[in-house]
Amino acid sequence: MNARAPLLSVRGVRAGYGGVEALRGVDLDVGDGEIVTLIGANGAGKTTLMMTIFGDPRASAGEIRFDGRDLTKLPTHEIAKLGLAQSPEGRRVFARMSVRENLQMGAMLAGGAHFSQDLERMFAIFPRLKERAGQRGGTLSGGEQQMLAIARALMSRPRLLMLDEPSLGLAPLVARQIFEVLRDLNRDGLSVFLVEQNAFHALSLAHRAYVMVNGEITLSGGGRELLARREVRAAYLEGGL
Ligand code: ATP
Repeated sequence: MNARAPLLSVRGVRAGYGGVEALRGVDLDVGDGEIVTLIGANGAGKTTLMMTIFGDPRASAGEIRFDGRDLTKLPTHEIAKLGLAQSPEGRRVFARMSVRENLQMGAMLAGGAHFSQDLERMFAIFPRLKERAGQRGGTLSGGEQQMLAIARALMSRPRLLMLDEPSLGLAPLVARQIFEVLRDLNRDGLSVFLVEQNAFHALSLAHRAYVMVNGEITLSGGGRELLARREVRAAYLEGGL
């Protein structure tokens, strides 16, 4: 038999906005239990890839499979039910809702049956959220909002967590805490797809990684292997530590 199929498989995917093609034939896999990182400069197409996996924008060519199912024609709300969850760029917590209510929204996909249990788990992972449970999302610090965005995504009990620049705008120490949480979650079995400009931490954490340039994957390999490559260091690390 062949090796097991990856949990997420992206093959020859093209997508764009109107006449502008942002993804120009992307191939990428996330295996079950892996942390996979995608790095690339501003505008390379990283966010577009993450959004295309969720069906908006739609892939104009190629195939995206999750757990063997083709996602390319499913509506976004159906895709979310399959066990993928997203923590989007810019955090986007519900600013007027409390921390607890934000987490309730995240639990809706899981049917709410395990709400109390899952809430306690999130509070154990992010004790700060427990302290702030009744506080409105919009009043949290940037790091706390990032924690809330991740916790909200986890409330749907995903198999694959996709994060778009979770360290953006955070103090280095807070960013490091976020990456440590991702490592722990992965050790407990969660697969992680991480889009980052903070290449040092993201590559250190990743089992495997990809580099995207102008809508194409130009390099892939082990996370630490890419971290050691001169061209990666020159393009994505200098001054970025
Ligand atoms: P960043 O790190 O800045 O988020 P990125 O690698 O995630 O960059 P994308 O945001 O995916 O890159 O952008 C890829 C290309 O698509 C860019 O040329 C961008 O200008 C364009 N683009 C992104 N969103 C839209 C949109 N809603 N409408 C039109 N063009 C867009």
